[in-house]
Amino acid sequence: MDFSTVNREFCAKTAGGDFGRLPDKPAVSGRGRRKRKNRYWGSVLFYKHLILGMTALAILLPLFGLTGMVYKYTCLKAEYQGLLRRANALCTAEAAEKDNKISEIGRKIKEELSVWTEGVGKIPFQVNTEDWNYILVNDWNPLPASYKFQLDVLEDGHQVDYRIAEDLGEMLSDAEAEGLEPLVCSAYRSYERQADLFNSSVEELMEQGMTYREAYYKTHEQVAIVNYSEHHTGLAVDIVGKNHQMLDERQGRTKEAQWLAQNCSRYGFILRYPKGKEKITGIEYESWHFRYVGRDAAQFITKNDLTLEEFLKIAKIQQKTGR
Ligand SMILES: [Zn+2]
Repeated sequence: MDFSTVNREFCAKTAGGDFGRLPDKPAVSGRGRRKRKNRYWGSVLFYKHLILGMTALAILLPLFGLTGMVYKYTCLKAEYQGLLRRANALCTAEAAEKDNKISEIGRKIKEELSVWTEGVGKIPFQVNTEDWNYILVNDWNPLPASYKFQLDVLEDGHQVDYRIAEDLGEMLSDAEAEGLEPLVCSAYRSYERQADLFNSSVEELMEQGMTYREAYYKTHEQVAIVNYSEHHTGLAVDIVGKNHQMLDERQGRTKEAQWLAQNCSRYGFILRYPKGKEKITGIEYESWHFRYVGRDAAQFITKNDLTLEEFLKIAKIQQKTGR
């Protein structure tokens, strides 16, 4: 018996097919799949996929980054523009507030000045505050280096600006004609003379026991520091009575001082440092110090109880407003 034939027949029967033909697709077991998978890792296909993936990432990542940056930039720009608008609005509001305050202050000053100047009255003659006879020299206004003038020598040896010599002479003559004995004790002073005066007063006060600082300030109450004295202009004179030549309070009670205070304006002079105006002039009351400003100005200043500082302020307002 041919067993090979038997087996073949048996097998064919049991398998339901021809023994000689192998099934087309044998079923793949789990182990087989793992083998195929293992074959993918490291295969050409794997590397293909890897390269493709990497390329895609290399393109997409910068794109995402760029999109993010553009988005961020847009947000920041919008925020910046918002801030800018707010800052502009604040600046505008602040400027408007300042303008309001300034105009309010300006209005008040104008009101005060108009009340003040109207109380005094309009200066009834033309004033050019740049004219030589209106030159202002005080603690806040030194004599400008450009100020030039010529001196005239008086009979007693004192010097004054030649333009005031005639009026001064007339005033002194008229006072003498009234039986008075006025005496010019100081007129034009050079810077050196002013420095000597100031320093000797400081030294004298220090000898009396004051410190240098105390002596300096005490002296400064009555003697101007160099370059800040009206005596440098040649337009100021100190006049005392022959019988009392001290520059003190009693000097104001002499007949000469009283006559000069009442009449000096007729000759173009003013009592430059009146009582009660110390804060404006910066100098204590001096009954002996007279300053030439011209006849019109002197009469206006005396009549309205002004100082030269106040007169010039009014004149400047009038010059500006054309009133
Ligand atoms: Zn003086």
